Amino acid sequence: MLKTLHRQGHSLAASAEQLRVLGDPQRVPEGHFAERIASTQHAPLLARSLDTLQINLGRVCNQTCTHCHVDAGPDRREAMSRSTAEEVIAFLKRVPSIRTLDITGGAPEMNPHFGWLVEQAAESGRQVIDRCNLTILLAPGFTHLPELLARYRVTVIASLPCYLEQNCDAQRGDGVFEKSIRAIRELNRRGYGDPSTGLELNLVYNPVGSGLPPNQAELEDRYRQELASRYGIRFNRLFTITNMPISRFLDDLLRREEYQAYMEKLMEAFNPSTLDSLMCRSLVSVDWQGFLYDCDFNQMLGLPLGDGEPLALSQATEAELIGRRIRTANHCYGCTAGCGSGCQGSLTE
Ligand code: SF4
Ligand code: SF4
Repeated sequence: MLKTLHRQGHSLAASAEQLRVLGDPQRVPEGHFAERIASTQHAPLLARSLDTLQINLGRVCNQTCTHCHVDAGPDRREAMSRSTAEEVIAFLKRVPSIRTLDITGGAPEMNPHFGWLVEQAAESGRQVIDRCNLTILLAPGFTHLPELLARYRVTVIASLPCYLEQNCDAQRGDGVFEKSIRAIRELNRRGYGDPSTGLELNLVYNPVGSGLPPNQAELEDRYRQELASRYGIRFNRLFTITNMPISRFLDDLLRREEYQAYMEKLMEAFNPSTLDSLMCRSLVSVDWQGFLYDCDFNQMLGLPLGDGEPLALSQATEAELIGRRIRTANHCYGCTAGCGSGCQGSLTE
């Protein structure tokens, strides 16, 4: 029997309103993206493999960033339970093709089952990714985290939208930059960012305003020089990510009356060569209640995987996930503009 989908009224109403904006015939009509890809060799968009399970442990976070696509913050209460965490580990055991458990949130480390999930997934031989906001590593009750992450050789992917304090704090809140630098030092002390240890620390850039990201390789060089010379810190790679026109960033665009211009910018920059590498083609996303989505963005818009009843992880099989038809909408222009964008940065050179 299918689990029943109970989501908080607030989230459902917000998602429905955002979908209405994204399909508004006066702006960008519903199905625009689907029509745009219809003439390419990638239509219909299908999942090709299942390499990564991305789990969202909930919306609780110690920060409230202006661009947050999760609408996370300290007042949110959604959090994955122990029984759903156990379903995640059971799924990993059933599906050997999954090589990576990618853990996100909110601040996923604030979920009480974070450490258990990391330990179980690492012991099953999976690469574990922690999408970390850095400041949580210094918060009272969480200072053991750098040690735990290093022990299980977790790859840390951390947001740092600029190497300049003012720009970073404008997006992520006052004082976030200074704490982020201290947190990176804690990770560096344990070997993160040093190529000889294999402990990976990758940083994430996303535009502070409503522009598209610059060239990833060039910005990575700049970050490396600036962060080394100003603060003496190191990292492995920089991922550039486009701001998706959903959640708080969409609200912000609408408030500033920049939504239409931003969508036109994304549509003009549509690049069909990104379709081959979209993250939804090799990943499946799980929400805090254990339901499946093609990606974290669809999760936030309340677009569950498939067209029928939401599918729970506990009932899903590898066979029905590989080759599934991916559910797209106009926000998908955010993944296909310019060099493309995904959880591992740009999709093309
Ligand atoms: S962007 Fe990340 S750190 Fe900022 S509020 Fe959202 S989940 Fe928290
Ligand atoms: S938002 Fe991006 S990752 Fe998600 S379904 Fe659309 S193209 Fe795929």
